[in-house]
Amino acid sequence: MTDTLKNQKKIVVQKFGGTSVKNPERIKSVATRAIEELKRNPKLVIVVSAMGDTTDKLVELSKELSTSPNPREYDALISTGENISAALLAMCLIDMGVDAISLTGLQAGIKTEGPNSRSKIIDVDTTRILEELNAGKVVIVTGFQGFNTNYDTTTIGRGGSDTSAVVLAAALGSPECDIFTDVDGVYTTDPRRVKDARKLKTVSYEEMLELASLGAQVLHPRAVECAKENNIIIHVRSSYSNEDGTRVKELNKMEVNKPVTGVTVNEKESIISVLDIPDEPGFAGKLFTRLAEHKISVDMIIQNVEKELTNNISFSVLEDDLEDAKAITETFAKESKSGQVLITNAIAKISAVGVGMISKPGIAAKMFSALGEANINIKRITTSEIKISCAIDRSDAQKALEVLHSAFDLANA
Ligand code: ASP
Ligand code: MG
Repeated sequence: MTDTLKNQKKIVVQKFGGTSVKNPERIKSVATRAIEELKRNPKLVIVVSAMGDTTDKLVELSKELSTSPNPREYDALISTGENISAALLAMCLIDMGVDAISLTGLQAGIKTEGPNSRSKIIDVDTTRILEELNAGKVVIVTGFQGFNTNYDTTTIGRGGSDTSAVVLAAALGSPECDIFTDVDGVYTTDPRRVKDARKLKTVSYEEMLELASLGAQVLHPRAVECAKENNIIIHVRSSYSNEDGTRVKELNKMEVNKPVTGVTVNEKESIISVLDIPDEPGFAGKLFTRLAEHKISVDMIIQNVEKELTNNISFSVLEDDLEDAKAITETFAKESKSGQVLITNAIAKISAVGVGMISKPGIAAKMFSALGEANINIKRITTSEIKISCAIDRSDAQKALEVLHSAFDLANA
């Protein structure tokens, strides 16, 4: 399709997540919202997830019949949740007098490559979508799906509908992509845990990635990466209201007025330490290669030289991986003639995130002092350009969140 045609009218891309289409009533409300949107923008593409926990149920179902489902059939199965919500929304709109059509990943031209269940979108042939838009239809696209060179349906990883929406926005030349969900935006911290948590107007891509990987499960990280690559603004907002939510975008210096944007806590990690590793080249490489081979991701890696000829390495892993990681580390310790392997359970990783800390010294000092004054002991510290993380006792997590939220004055804009 030519660029001129694309640019005739702005195309609006909106994604509705599982909770926003979880029952007929919610689907009707999406349709009503679409009709309102059409008054402003006649070209509307809606990406939908599966209704509620449909995808989980399909995964369960597959387990009942197969211990290791055939990958092609597995994708053929778990992709169907999106077909249901897309078709239901389309028929609902048609009944309300609006021309609409549902398109699967294949029909919408979403090309993927790579293994089933975690395929990557490599290209979108927008011909069909543009034809339907130009015919005056609302186009409803199944999220989470694409197709491969065999024209078989593939899926792009759990929670992938966010990514589908952002990729479509990029392919259709839309500068912004609305992600409707059950929360009304991104907050300075979890509003269920800290009363005066504040909704952020904007957050940068980098911050959002840190916040996402730290447990703010508002957006799928891949979607944020895609948005960053294509300079698409993601507008995270509630499907229950008309209010503005949070815009995830490239921030210029003027828009950053605080060194810290948000504080988060992760309470799902444990620390493994190996003592007295021979201080020679290659040992760290060997240990972490083995962990990687078992698909165990590690975080908060710290090495220090205790005595002249040996060093200690500690790192955190997800609790779900702890048993495997411990076994691998113990084998490594034996083979490398290292010392003991110690486990520190029940830790919490508390992190302060902000692009503003790059240019402002003293943020780490402020964080450690605030924790110290609250009598919270810091067990480990790690930092990146825009993040400072401390491992603390899990029983201190709630207090630490509150203390840091107020130390960095996050309740006030
Ligand atoms: N329905 C899929 C899932 O539950 C994709 C999504 O919701 O984004 O993972
Ligand atoms: Mg979902």
